[in-house]
Amino acid sequence: MGNHQTLFQQAQKVLVGGVNSPVRAFGSVGGTPLFMQKAAGSRLFDQDNNAYIDYVGSWGPAILGHAHPAVTQAIQQAATCGASFGTATAAEIDLAEKVVELLPSAQMVRLVSSGTEATMTALRLARGVTGRDKVIKFAGCYHGHADSFLVQAGSGALTLGIPNSPGVPQATAADTLIAQFNELASVEGLIRRYPEQIAAVIIEPIIGNAGLIRPDQGFLQSLRELTGAHGVLLIFDEVMTGFRVAPGGAQQLYDTKPDLTTLGKIIGGGCPIGAIAGPRELMMQLAPAGPVYQAGTLSGNPLAVAAGLTTLNHLTPQLYATLEDRAAQLEQGIRNNLDELSLPYVYQRIGSMGCLFFTSRPVRTFADAMTCDTDKFKQYFHAMLQQGVYLPPSQFEANFISAAHSEDDINRTIRANKAALAKIK
Ligand code: PLP
Repeated sequence: MGNHQTLFQQAQKVLVGGVNSPVRAFGSVGGTPLFMQKAAGSRLFDQDNNAYIDYVGSWGPAILGHAHPAVTQAIQQAATCGASFGTATAAEIDLAEKVVELLPSAQMVRLVSSGTEATMTALRLARGVTGRDKVIKFAGCYHGHADSFLVQAGSGALTLGIPNSPGVPQATAADTLIAQFNELASVEGLIRRYPEQIAAVIIEPIIGNAGLIRPDQGFLQSLRELTGAHGVLLIFDEVMTGFRVAPGGAQQLYDTKPDLTTLGKIIGGGCPIGAIAGPRELMMQLAPAGPVYQAGTLSGNPLAVAAGLTTLNHLTPQLYATLEDRAAQLEQGIRNNLDELSLPYVYQRIGSMGCLFFTSRPVRTFADAMTCDTDKFKQYFHAMLQQGVYLPPSQFEANFISAAHSEDDINRTIRANKAALAKIK
């Protein structure tokens, strides 16, 4: 720990809170954040060279595992040709074609540099096309840190207890209406109350930023019908679920086509990237084809495009089958451990995304997630860390398995889980 404490003290002098993204600071679990120096396969290695089995996966991108040789080679090759040109490149076409091939609702793509930029752009496009200002989001969903979305947001904003950030103009917050996930009536109510004023409904089709909350059967389809009937665009924020829960994301899994999709994380293979995808007619409203402005110095960056395309090219049916096997094995092992104790829990999982909630209440809304015993999570997190398992440092985050997690990794994790649960008071 000594090394980490020294580094954290040093970091706090020059980096705000010692980190460059809030959840990394261990705010909700306490203690000193770990400084990692490298990663390989399923493992992270800290400054003292301790290894951890990693279930954060860089918050989602590392579906193939860390430093996958093909991805590393693609980045190296691209780097030798120059890190950024600020011009069109052929590789961007390849990546866009791959996204169109995989994502059921995509005909055209705009590459940007982060998930936040993608959701911001999707909202501007929706507002530009409909001529309406308001947007509906769901309590507990996180769509990056643009002003319009920092209202009852999940992830770091939730962990830090900042439901509405200072600095978000009142007028902007007033245009963001909050509905309840899995409660269609809450959306219907807002559409009725603000007739012809709502540009879009944006949703994480599977919430991964308040733990993991799955949509009830038929919820996304009903949302599709409702929005379509009122000229409201439906935006699926698949920054986390895209390429993760299925090659074509949650829209493939639930057979529901949104009007616009936002992507990030896996599409960059660990490099900074994001994307907006949708039907030609809508996408052509973006500049330079249309009037809705969006631009970026590093958009379509060659290193990110090379890493992303190589990652997407590795997403075979076999890979998803392996991820499902490993994730199911982990779930079963943890359930077995928990069932031997009198500790209330809910385990939710879709493919390689999952979450163990310390609550007795079924978790289908954000309010349900809020019933979790965060003190128990805190103890669990540290007990797991001590045994070399790195979990997301918050109850309200999903964990991820990669194709590099071996059966042995999973068995070790199950044993660590058993020992960690025994320590919880
Ligand atoms: N949307 C979702 C669903 C996310 O999970 C995230 C990040 O965690 C974002 C948007 C923002 O992406 P980024 O952190 O790349 O800006």
